[in-house]
Amino acid sequence: MIPPPIMPPKRPAATIVASAGVAAPPPPGSVAPPLWPSDTYAWPDPDTKPPYDYARTVNPNRDMLAAALAELEGAAGGVVTNSGQSATLLALLLVPAGGLVVAPHDCYGGTYRLIQGLADAGKLDALFVDQRDDAAYAAAMARGPALVWIETPSNPLLRIVDIAARAAQAQAAGALVAADNTLPTPCRQRPLDLGCDLVMHSTTKALNGHGDVIGGALLAREPQLVERITWWGNAAGLTGSAHDAHQVLRGLRTLPLRIDRQEASARRIADRLAARPEVAAVHFPGLPDHPDHALAERQQGGPGFMIAFELHGGADAARAFTARLRLITLASSLGGYATLICVPASMTHRGMPPQAQARAGIGPGLLRLSVGLEEPDDLIVDLAHALMR
Ligand SMILES: *Cc1c(COP(=O)(O)O)cnc(C)c1O
Repeated sequence: MIPPPIMPPKRPAATIVASAGVAAPPPPGSVAPPLWPSDTYAWPDPDTKPPYDYARTVNPNRDMLAAALAELEGAAGGVVTNSGQSATLLALLLVPAGGLVVAPHDCYGGTYRLIQGLADAGKLDALFVDQRDDAAYAAAMARGPALVWIETPSNPLLRIVDIAARAAQAQAAGALVAADNTLPTPCRQRPLDLGCDLVMHSTTKALNGHGDVIGGALLAREPQLVERITWWGNAAGLTGSAHDAHQVLRGLRTLPLRIDRQEASARRIADRLAARPEVAAVHFPGLPDHPDHALAERQQGGPGFMIAFELHGGADAARAFTARLRLITLASSLGGYATLICVPASMTHRGMPPQAQARAGIGPGLLRLSVGLEEPDDLIVDLAHALMR
């Protein structure tokens, strides 16, 4: 029980409402973690800073989530941010003025927009390369990058980059290496074990998994790097809210179960799509004809829940197809309980100009499916129905 406050009789209403519960100790032993939305904390005296003082700097709900994510990724710690983009920005704040950032030519559209935008503003130098191309990657390393950004499997085409090999080359060139691990999640891939310094997440996606939070995280392998990103996260105000951290931790409880189920459904759907005459190509690391199938088998614990595919008939066929779907929703996001489909060229990757999209292999008719938790047979029926003209 919360102890009743010691109070004089007949206090004014303004004082009663303004002081109710202020700095009261919480009841101990709550099984579900409490939500601590307080922006500030009481000090015992002006010279004794309490462990929690101001919530932009430090918050118990963010700490609980950061500890769980750090353990999942094998990190020393990290910062829970208010979006995936703010986690990416936090990593970019480690780049000295004019430093070179090397990123994949087929990275997430928002990552491309942010890095290119900072380059256009003269804050850093950007080079987008095909990280599967040995010569292009070696040439990029020869330019002495400050930060190398890795995203594998790539979004939307699910190409696989050899993290251990690329991270070793980048570090030999003196760069910090960060991996966006949003798609595989730590249930399938642990980039820090493979040599990366930093791992980034959009918790908006599978980690929350319930489609109701925008959030992110940046985690580091070494304590000294955790200290630097914690300093910048506070200085730049990139940290996430207590409510969002509480919600993401709740979603995270079922992550391993959801990934197993979504991946099993994705395997079945990819096989079905590959067998359909209307389908021109299926990009899914679990299919034996995927160009990086062997590397995917070695590097990831499984192919994941994302499938990209192309129809005969290109952009018009893709648009007619999405209009005929009944169960699957046309929307930009991924990793949640609901199966979503998108046309990356005009949706998730519109931050990437047409020439960059063409270079990355993102055609106007490419479709990207994030397989959710519905009964897989129902998804297969919905897709088959939409494929029939
Ligand atoms: C969604 C996403 C981001 C950006 O995250 P937000 O939470 O939308 O800011 C970054 N990388 C990948 C791979 C994503 O899917």
